[in-house]
Amino acid sequence: MSESDVEVVVVGGGAAGIAAARRLQNAAVDCLLVEARDRLGGRAWTVSDSGFALDLGCGWLHSADRNPWATIALEQGAAIDKSPPPWMRSGPAIGFPPAQRQEFNEALEQFFTRLEQLAQDETDVPAASALEPGSRWNGLINALSTYISGAEWDRISAKDFDRYADSNINWRVIAGLGAVVQRCGASLPATFDCRVVAIDHRGKRLRIETSKGAIGADQVIVTIPTTLIAAEQISFTPALARKVDAAAGLPLGIDDKLFMSLDGAQEFDKDIRVFGRTDRAATGAYHLRPFGRPLIEAFFGGKCAVELEGKGEGAFFDFAVAELVGVFGGAFARRIKPVRIHPWGSDPFARGSYSHALPGFADCRAVLAEPVDDRLFFAGEACSTHDFSTAHGAWHTGVTAADQVIAARDRAAAASAQPA
Ligand SMILES: Cc1cc2nc3c(=O)[nH]c(=O)nc-3n(C[C@H](O)[C@H](O)[C@H](O)COP(=O)(O)OP(=O)(O)OC[C@H]3O[C@@H](n4cnc5c(N)ncnc54)[C@H](O)[C@@H]3O)c2cc1C
Repeated sequence: MSESDVEVVVVGGGAAGIAAARRLQNAAVDCLLVEARDRLGGRAWTVSDSGFALDLGCGWLHSADRNPWATIALEQGAAIDKSPPPWMRSGPAIGFPPAQRQEFNEALEQFFTRLEQLAQDETDVPAASALEPGSRWNGLINALSTYISGAEWDRISAKDFDRYADSNINWRVIAGLGAVVQRCGASLPATFDCRVVAIDHRGKRLRIETSKGAIGADQVIVTIPTTLIAAEQISFTPALARKVDAAAGLPLGIDDKLFMSLDGAQEFDKDIRVFGRTDRAATGAYHLRPFGRPLIEAFFGGKCAVELEGKGEGAFFDFAVAELVGVFGGAFARRIKPVRIHPWGSDPFARGSYSHALPGFADCRAVLAEPVDDRLFFAGEACSTHDFSTAHGAWHTGVTAADQVIAARDRAAAASAQPA
């Protein structure tokens, strides 16, 4: 690679990097996506080798009525499923009788009301402060936090959680959201299997060191996950301690999906959810017959997912079998087989699933998103104040960072056109 190749380097080809590069390309700015993996999409990843399009990362178009990926999917001609998500339907009575379910829903509603009130206080507190001491539902309420944020409520900032904006409309792309994201970036200039290891911003031009050599650029947009920024996987010279600290306040929680085949699936309604247990946080959420397919999409989060990742991929299936046998009886074990799992916490280019703010660190999102010297820009889901943890949040931060780059270039051009 030559030192004078590009005007702007975009580090990371996930949803944010793709959005940024597209915006730059439309503004005729010469840019290059530099991606460590052998594919685009990052945490948006559809695999189809089982015969079904499975989203191992993001699958739901949350806030779908204002989600740019929904528009892009339709532009691509992708079919969208608008049926209500499993968490908004009443699941089967087995393992969770209606009276208990109602009690749980009431406890959950009261928890969220208390949480919203706590978030208005001046001092940020762990969201766990809103749990009712001794409530029998605290385990399952904590399990929900592991699915929503990838960590239990004691790790979640009440203020940050409260800032999340949700229109409560959730759709899916039948052929996979990851495939939509990947296709969206397909025509962008990109280099793969190329890890950025250092960015030197002392000179007039930036020097971006990669596993395939150095690239010179005027500006850079960094979109890698917070876990990697906090671990200084890219070293900045001069150092950017404020960014590293902000990223450390916004770790990625862990959520992993295990897909299993299910014999005799038609016994169940499509798109329903079953919890493995209703009395503890370390339990899976099992989505039966997603899109009506003969599958179970199991979701594990927080400490439970961390522990299972530590034991190896087979541990997810063993755990799921034990829980599902507990709900449906011993014969159920013979009806399910593992299809696919991806442990995101062990993925070297993610080290987690999606960001949450630690208690007291809600304002780190704005700090992470701040440009440095009109030359270093940051994007990625963790930079979003209201749509963090999502693919649409990532998209918006990418567009914002690209707009900041374009504005900075315009300022620099205007300044150099001024008579001395
Ligand atoms: C299991 C799971 C379920 C999810 N469900 C949903 C959902 O239903 N709906 C939703 O909206 N969101 C969901 N998400 C979250 C969503 O996938 C992410 O928020 C979004 O994809 C993040 O995009 P990003 O561009 O910010 O980061 P990433 O996608 O992580 O992109 C960053 C890129 O940087 C690359 N990279 C890392 N280090 C380097 C380096 N040193 N040099 C070069 N490149 C590097 C990575 O390989 C990656 O491609 C889910 C995520 C997971 C894991």
